[in-house]
Amino acid sequence: MSQHNYDPILQEIIEITGKDPAKCYQCGKCSAGCPIRDYEDVPPNRVIRYIQLGMYDKALSSSTIWMCAGCLTCSSRCPNDFEPAKLMDALRQIAIKKNIQPADKKVQKFHRAFLDQIKANGRSYELGLVAEYKLLTGALMQDVDVAPTMFLKGKIGILPNRIKNKDKVRKIFKNFEEEGK
Ligand code: SF4
Ligand code: SF4
Repeated sequence: MSQHNYDPILQEIIEITGKDPAKCYQCGKCSAGCPIRDYEDVPPNRVIRYIQLGMYDKALSSSTIWMCAGCLTCSSRCPNDFEPAKLMDALRQIAIKKNIQPADKKVQKFHRAFLDQIKANGRSYELGLVAEYKLLTGALMQDVDVAPTMFLKGKIGILPNRIKNKDKVRKIFKNFEEEGK
């Protein structure tokens, strides 16, 4: 890729994803199938368009890249073999490295709290996630009324259900953190 005179951010995107955003012809099929479209600030194809136009700050500060659930629907629907899900992942990595936050900062804090649970337990631990999210955002009383029902229905466990080899997961995080330095 380095034989092209790409902008460094574009080059990094291509290196992480293995795909050139110029490939996208803006048909919108990815956005039409995205299950969280109602919660994103801009549709996924517009994030790609920002990249094509060199509007990196717009893409990197979009809450869409943090709302993305990584379901791969967009990638499977793309008729041109571009993979928006990989792009969302790459943009999150670059946004963290550049310390760029979305307008709605809560969505990035949720992401941080989720990853901290994976790092600590090797899998998601909902009670820890909720507690950390509330501490990070200060929204201590938000949705507390639904907590008893969730406990009773077994949706939230009291203790984390850790995996056996959680050290391997921590190593993945450590490698990523060292790469970003
Ligand atoms: S489906 Fe593919 S080509 Fe169409 S807008 Fe999305 S990424 Fe671009
Ligand atoms: S991977 Fe992300 S952007 Fe793609 S369809 Fe799923 S939630 Fe939407």
